Amino acid sequence: MAAQTTLPAPLVELVEQLAKLPGLGPKSALKVAMTLLEWPRSRADSLGDGILRLRERLCLCSRCAGLSETPVCPVCADPTRRPEELCLVSQWDSVMLLEETAQFGGYYLVLGGLLDPLEGVTPGQLRLDALRARLAEGAVTECILALGATLAAESTASHIKNLLAREFPGVRLTRLAQGIPLGAEVKYVDKETLSQSLRFRQDL
Ligand SMILES: [Zn+2]
Repeated sequence: MAAQTTLPAPLVELVEQLAKLPGLGPKSALKVAMTLLEWPRSRADSLGDGILRLRERLCLCSRCAGLSETPVCPVCADPTRRPEELCLVSQWDSVMLLEETAQFGGYYLVLGGLLDPLEGVTPGQLRLDALRARLAEGAVTECILALGATLAAESTASHIKNLLAREFPGVRLTRLAQGIPLGAEVKYVDKETLSQSLRFRQDL
C-alpha cells in the first residue's frame, strides 16, 4: 500500500473507481488508468462521453424493466403483440435472444435475477410485485418461464408456481421445453434450440 499512497491523487481516485468494475483488481485498474493517460486527449474524452451518454440515453422500460432508450421500450409499445402471453426472464439479454428467434409474439417481464439462497438472492430482490401488478391487469392468461435450467432457475420457477397457484390460479404456467441443456443459462443457448424450446413449451 506504500506505493499506492505516493501516486498522484487523481490517479488514485480513478484506480479506486476502476477497481470496482467486474474482473478488475487494483493492479489491472492501475494498468488501465495508465493506458488512459497515454491515450490522446480526444480518445479519452470520447470514452468519458460514451459513459455519460450511456446513463443519459438508456433507462429501464417502465413496463418490462428491460433496457430502453425510451420510457416504454419498442416491444412493450407494440400494440400488435399478444397481451395474453407474458414471458418471464431473468435478465434483459434473454429478451434480445428470444426476440431474435422471432417465435414469440407476447410481452416480457425482466425479473432482475434468479432466486439463489446460496448467493443470498431472496424473493424480495426480484420484480415479483411488478409481476403481480401485470397479472392483476387481467390480460395475461399464460406465463412462460424462460429462466434456463440452473438450480437458481428451478427455485425461481417453483416460487413463481406457488405465487400463481395462490394468487392467480387462472393463469397457466409453462416453461421452455426440451433442448435447454441442464445447468445452462438462457443466454448461452443457440437460437435454433431456443426457438424449438419456445414452440414446444411445457406446462409446469
Ligand atoms: Zn418494455
